[in-house]
Amino acid sequence: MKQDILFNFLKKEEARQLEGINLIASENYASRDVLEMTGSVLTNKYVEGSVGARYYSGCAFVDQIEAETIERFKKLFHAEHANVQPHCGSSANFAVYFALLNPGDTILSMKLSAGGHLTHGHSVNLSGKMYNIISYGVDEKTGLIDYQALEQLATEHKPKLIIAGASSYSRTLDFEKFSNIAKKVGAYFLADIAHIAGLVAAGLHPSPFPWADCVTMTTHKTFRGPRGAVILCKNEFAQRIDRAVMPGIQGGAFMNVIAAKGVACAQASTPEFKEYQKQVIQNAQAMADVFTQHGYTVVSGGTDTHLFLIDVRPLGLTGKQVEEILETVGIFVNRNAIPYDSNSPMVAGGIRIGTAAIATRGATQTDCENIAQLTIDIVSEYLDKEDISAYAELVREITSRWS
Ligand SMILES: *Cc1c(COP(=O)(O)O)cnc(C)c1O
Repeated sequence: MKQDILFNFLKKEEARQLEGINLIASENYASRDVLEMTGSVLTNKYVEGSVGARYYSGCAFVDQIEAETIERFKKLFHAEHANVQPHCGSSANFAVYFALLNPGDTILSMKLSAGGHLTHGHSVNLSGKMYNIISYGVDEKTGLIDYQALEQLATEHKPKLIIAGASSYSRTLDFEKFSNIAKKVGAYFLADIAHIAGLVAAGLHPSPFPWADCVTMTTHKTFRGPRGAVILCKNEFAQRIDRAVMPGIQGGAFMNVIAAKGVACAQASTPEFKEYQKQVIQNAQAMADVFTQHGYTVVSGGTDTHLFLIDVRPLGLTGKQVEEILETVGIFVNRNAIPYDSNSPMVAGGIRIGTAAIATRGATQTDCENIAQLTIDIVSEYLDKEDISAYAELVREITSRWS
């Protein structure tokens, strides 16, 4: 037994991950091989610059690792160029901005409340302070992106960059339409596929190429790799992107994480991964249906992806409350703003549910229908008499059957 109490906490966290039902849309369970690379001696190596042009000696083997990882990503996503060094999705986005824009330039991107990401120009984020942000949302009735309204905004404001991509938009993104609008107004087009990278890899969401100039993705969400990110782009942007990542915004790359990205990419290239992603989408659709049948409001009426949003305001509850109620019995969701939400993001009027993590553990469509029903029962029992402790046992029973 190790002395350091942090190892006790690690054990507890491991148990929580196994005993709970994880419906957090941005999380997943990385494979043993991914964890092994992440926790390997590659942590010890300093790596700055690109393959073959490093600022340190001793890079012979890590050069092979990074070169192979780059090739895997280019092949899987049909990309002309890949940079596998960004530490996270946020730094990947900033690298693209740094490569393509000057401070004060105009970006047209999705509002946070409609599903966009903080780094797409929210006022509290550096992106919102550095650039002039014009934002688009979704149609209030349909919950869908209104491409006509988007085109009008683009024509009116002449952005230098248009961003497609979101953290809580459950529908297919029409990259071709975004690209046509960008071309029409002379804007660059960035597709941020942080959430849907796994679906794109499996061919279950249309590819951003050949439409996007640059693509950013995280490797730890549906892609099921280590925490990190990758930038994919057309050759004409390759040099600018590489220089924006290093020396632009990062120093040393995390070689342990790059190797784990390579392992995850090989896994994402298999037929099993495609089957897994099919299951993820089927499960999300099955759950959304159960909620709809019970009178819940699912934003946009359903989902084409691994996630969906529920408006919990009709229950007289906030997203924060539902998140906390479910956490007490071991079901993990996150509060989320819904389109036209008047609550602050810390409270939020909705919850976001995702199926990528539980599908990794083997959750079937029937499991997912049962979990949706269980969630509905828990919330109504809570509204009835507040005592829901008996449900914790049911949750553990479900997860004890999984890997
Ligand atoms: C998750 C996410 C990011 C940021 O990823 P981090 O690794 O948390 O920095 C960027 N864009 C979108 C759309 C995301 O969902």
